[in-house]
Amino acid sequence: MKLLGLIGGMNWQSTIEYYTTINEILNERLGKNHSAKLLLYSVDFEEIITLQMQNDWDMIIEEIIKICKNLEKAGAEGIIICSNTMHLVVEDLEKEISIPVINVIDVIAERIKKEDIKSVGLLGTKFTMKENFYKNRLRNKHNLKIIVPRKEDIDIINEIIYKELANGKINLSSKKEIKRIIRELVISGAEGIILGCTELPMIINSSEVEVPLFDTLKEHMSAAIEFSLTKNEGKIY
Ligand code: GLU
Repeated sequence: MKLLGLIGGMNWQSTIEYYTTINEILNERLGKNHSAKLLLYSVDFEEIITLQMQNDWDMIIEEIIKICKNLEKAGAEGIIICSNTMHLVVEDLEKEISIPVINVIDVIAERIKKEDIKSVGLLGTKFTMKENFYKNRLRNKHNLKIIVPRKEDIDIINEIIYKELANGKINLSSKKEIKRIIRELVISGAEGIILGCTELPMIINSSEVEVPLFDTLKEHMSAAIEFSLTKNEGKIY
């Protein structure tokens, strides 16, 4: 089993989900008392949010590179960033470290393609929905058609993530809004929806909508286990 280096705390509730899910998946595969070999570097999320809101991605990149180098020094053989949004820094990060990053965008794209879906709606933070790092990778590398909510709805989802879900709050009115936004994406042609934020599964699940939901947290962890249990490099997308 390869040792995995997880960067978590973004937020800490969803990192608990990561930790639980990775161990459940691994234990289902290997049985007995097996559990995942991993190092977890958990950040202070307030520091990260402050930098995100100031759009100081250079500082964020610097910080993440530092963390990865420490994980690498401590023996990690692969990096998992436990946040979709923070994948904005992956291409810069990959130039600085010699171990692979298991990229959630590629992982979720491969899962969607297995369902023969060509057109998907993307939900996440405003960075994930507005910036190009997520959409372009799905479009250019994986040939998927990506539909994002309209501007006002991007703001609504972003508020729900940072003001409610990141603090562990689940409001019924917010759930209704998310369901409405998903319905509108489906009307615009989405055959499935990417839950491109690790907090979103807290508020919505597949039984509540008419199209498949792609849970990035769960798929990310399955890919991490696959990598950890595969001899040599494993499949890095
Ligand atoms: N956990 C979230 C994600 O998956 C957002 C938090 C963050 O800004 O990192 O995108």
